[in-house]
Amino acid sequence: MKTTLRTHNCGELRIAHVGQEVTLCGWVQKSRDLGYILFVDLRDRYGISQVSIKSDLLPDLYDQARKLGREFVITVKGKVAERESKNLKIPTGEVEIIPSSIELISESKLPPFKIENDTDGLEDLRMEYRYLDIRRPKMRDNLLLRARVMKAVREYLDAQAFVEIETPFLIKSTPEGARDFIVPSRLSKGSFYALPQSPQILKQLLMVAGMDRYYQIVKCFRDEDFRGDRQPEFTQIDCEMSFVSQKDVLDTFEGMTKHVFKQAINVDLPDFQWLSYHDSMKYYGTDKPDLRFDCKIIDLNEVMGGTDFGLFNSLLENGGLIACINAKGTASYTRKQTDKLTDFVKEPHRGASGLVYIKYNEDGTFKSSIDKFYSQEHLQKICEHAGTEPGDMLLVVADKSVNKTRKVLGDLRLQMAREEGWIKPGTWSVFWVVDFPLFEEDEETGDVTFAHHPFCMPKVEHLDYLYTNPEKVIAQTYDMVINGNEIVSGSIRVHRKDVQDKIFDILGLSEEEKDAKFGFMLKAFEYGAPPHGGCAFGVDRFVMLLANESSIRDVIAFPKTAGGRDLMMDAPADVPPEALKDLGIKLDS
Ligand code: ASP
Repeated sequence: MKTTLRTHNCGELRIAHVGQEVTLCGWVQKSRDLGYILFVDLRDRYGISQVSIKSDLLPDLYDQARKLGREFVITVKGKVAERESKNLKIPTGEVEIIPSSIELISESKLPPFKIENDTDGLEDLRMEYRYLDIRRPKMRDNLLLRARVMKAVREYLDAQAFVEIETPFLIKSTPEGARDFIVPSRLSKGSFYALPQSPQILKQLLMVAGMDRYYQIVKCFRDEDFRGDRQPEFTQIDCEMSFVSQKDVLDTFEGMTKHVFKQAINVDLPDFQWLSYHDSMKYYGTDKPDLRFDCKIIDLNEVMGGTDFGLFNSLLENGGLIACINAKGTASYTRKQTDKLTDFVKEPHRGASGLVYIKYNEDGTFKSSIDKFYSQEHLQKICEHAGTEPGDMLLVVADKSVNKTRKVLGDLRLQMAREEGWIKPGTWSVFWVVDFPLFEEDEETGDVTFAHHPFCMPKVEHLDYLYTNPEKVIAQTYDMVINGNEIVSGSIRVHRKDVQDKIFDILGLSEEEKDAKFGFMLKAFEYGAPPHGGCAFGVDRFVMLLANESSIRDVIAFPKTAGGRDLMMDAPADVPPEALKDLGIKLDS
C-alpha cells in the first residue's frame, strides 16, 4: 500500500522482502526494552511489523526509541531482515525492520484503555473514545467485514439489473409502526419534516416511475424506546422490484444472501425452506424461531384431561392450551434446576403461572410435579404422546391464552438450548417465514393495526375478506430469519388504489387523514402502477451475525448507547436560544 509517505504498510512485509530498504508509518502498539535490544511493534490497519534496535549497534536510535509511548505515530526507515526467532502466528512474523531513522509524527496521551482485543475498557469508555476502540483488531475486522458485505450486495444486485437510487431524508412520515423523528422547518415555521422510518413509499413510487429494480443502502430512523439492542438510526439494504410474484422476490434475495455468505465468510448455505407464520407460532411460539436445533412445541390438550386437577380441567373446558417441549436428556435435573426454569417462565414479561415437569426416568418410571393428580399410566400416556425417551423431561406450560402458552414455551425452548448447549457454534439456520396476517391487534390499545406496514398485498384469494373478515386476511408478506433473528422483511405491495383505500379504511383512517398522509401515493396509483414487491435487510444485525458478535454496536462505527446518546460527540445537546427562535420553538422551562 505505497503512498508518498511510506513504501509499504505494516502488514505486508514477508521473507521475500529481506534486504529491501523500506519506510513504514504507524502507531506504536507496544515496545519491549530488554536492555541490549528494544522491539517496537508498529501497527496500522493492515497489521503489525516489528522494529528491532540493538543498543550497542544503534545507540542513538535505541535512546530515541526508549522514549516512544503507546500510540505514538512514527515513521520508520530501515532494512528488512530475517528474524532470529520467528513468530509464525502473524503474517509478518518472519521478518523485522532494522531502522536507519525513526521520525516522531504525533505523540499520544496514555490511552484510557488497552487497545487490544481483550480490552479492559468498559463500553461507555470505548464509545467516548471510539476512534481508539476502532484501532482494536476486532473492531477493525468487524468494519472490514461490513464493507465486504456491502461490496458483495452491490456486486449481486448490480448483476441483477438493480439500480441504486437515493431517496430524501427530509420527508413526510412513512409508517413502519414506530414514532417518527421530526425535524423543524425554519422556512415554514410550525411545520416539520419526518426522517424516514424507511424509504417504503418512495421506493414504491420508483416502481410507478418505471425504474423496475431499485436498491439503496440507506439509513432509517425510528424514535423508539430503547428495547434491547436497537439503534435510533440503522442501516437497511432496501430493495424493490416490479412485475414479480412473491417467489421471484424470495428467490432473488435467497440468492443474494447466499452470495454474501460466500463472499463475506466463505460459507455455502443450502436452499432455504419456507415456513408458514401459522406453523412457526404453533411449533416454536415465535415468528423468528432459531432452527439450529429442533425441539418443537407439542400440544397436550388431548392427553391431559380425565383427572381431578381442577386448574387444567378448567383450561381445557375454556379453550386454553396445555403444551410442552421435550427437553431431551434432562430427566436428571435437580429440584434447584427445575425451580430455576419455573422462575424463568414466571418472569413478569412472560407471566406464566408456573411450570410443570414430567420426567421419564432412565429406569422407566415417571416422576412429575403433578403426581398428585396423574397416575404412572397417565404420565406414560402423556410421554408417549410427546415422543419422549428414557432420560427426557417434558416442560409443560398451561394458560387460558393459547398464544401465551406458545410464547412462553418458545422462550423456554431457547433458554434450554442455551443451558444445554444445543446450538453447535458455526452452524446456520436461514429460512423464510411466509403468510403473515395482514392485521393484528395493537397490544396497548386493542385497535386493529397493520402487522408489517399498510402497503402489503393480501393473498389474492383473501381479497374478499377485506370486506367481510379482515382479521382472516393473510398477506403476501415474508421475513428471512437467520439464527433466530429477523433479518429481512418484505411483501408484495398493494398496487390497486381501491385495495389500498380499503386497507386504510380498516385501519380507521378518515378521508381527510388518508388524503393528508397518503394522498400523493394514492394519486400516483391512478397513473399506471405495476405489480411490485420487495424487502429490506437489517444490515447491522446481519453483519453482527456474520461477525459472530452479540451486539449490533460492535459492527457500527459510531453507534449510540442503549439510551440513544452519542457519548463521543455528546449528542443530543442543547442548541443556542436564537436557533430555537428561528425555528419558532419555545421550550417549557
Ligand atoms: N419497509 C419495510 C421495512 O422497513 C421493508 C419492506 O417491506 O420492504 O421493514
